[in-house]
Amino acid sequence: MVAGDQVADQITAAGKHVIVIGGGDTGSDCIGTAHRQGARSVTNLAIGRQPSSDRPEHQPWPMFPTVFEVQSSHEEGGERAYLASTVEFLTDESGAVRALRVAETEYVDGSRVPRAGTEREIPADLVLISMGFTGPEPGAAEELELPLTGRGALDRAQDYQTAQEGVFVAGDAGRGQSLIVWAIAEGRAAAAEVDRYLAGESALPVPIGPDEVAIGVRPA
Ligand SMILES: Cc1cc2nc3c(=O)[nH]c(=O)nc-3n(C[C@H](O)[C@H](O)[C@H](O)COP(=O)(O)OP(=O)(O)OC[C@H]3O[C@@H](n4cnc5c(N)ncnc54)[C@H](O)[C@@H]3O)c2cc1C
Repeated sequence: MVAGDQVADQITAAGKHVIVIGGGDTGSDCIGTAHRQGARSVTNLAIGRQPSSDRPEHQPWPMFPTVFEVQSSHEEGGERAYLASTVEFLTDESGAVRALRVAETEYVDGSRVPRAGTEREIPADLVLISMGFTGPEPGAAEELELPLTGRGALDRAQDYQTAQEGVFVAGDAGRGQSLIVWAIAEGRAAAAEVDRYLAGESALPVPIGPDEVAIGVRPA
């Protein structure tokens, strides 16, 4: 659609009350896109507390601090709600979502739970869920019976090879949610390993050292 193609079932935020669940970078992209498509309202729900604008003491440099971020998409508008636990999706008679029931988050023994008696309804015509990595698309992985890590990524060894001989995995599928630079570097390193597998040796560049290959936590 961005390239000018007509897409029959394209989801659009135009004229809709949009709710984005999840306060991370992906949520921020959803907010910006919804505004640009002409959403009627955009509400971003985050289950936790609003982070401080200052670097927390327990995350000194060079750690990556958890701070309140205002990205360009946030500057475009919308409401950001913290301590917002989604309790229920409410539907109209056709089964389409019409609102979310949201409660204030309460911390109980370290767990985040909805506080009873604080529920409110927020109108919603489109709900975008950006709550974290749930694993790569299952199709090929299921067909090949590739084992998963504890985080739902595809399990692999340091040479990017899975338990199925000759099947290699690079990028988010093996690493979990990450960044484009890692996907590019892993793609190149995995290509070198594939070359070595096929030809016995390889002159291709390997931009990632063996200790830096993120191998997920295997399920117990
Ligand atoms: C909304 C959003 C915003 C992001 N913003 C940033 C950012 O600003 N900066 C940044 O560095 N990173 C960002 N990321 C992360 C970045 O997009 C990923 O880390 C990166 O795209 C991973 O690359 P990849 O090649 O491993 O996987 P992907 O880019 O996900 O590519 C996998 C491809 O495989 C295809 N596929 C799946 N199954 C099959 C099959 N059976 N046959 C053929 N093809 C198949 C998929 O359709 C997909 O095209 C963002 C991610 C999201 C979701």
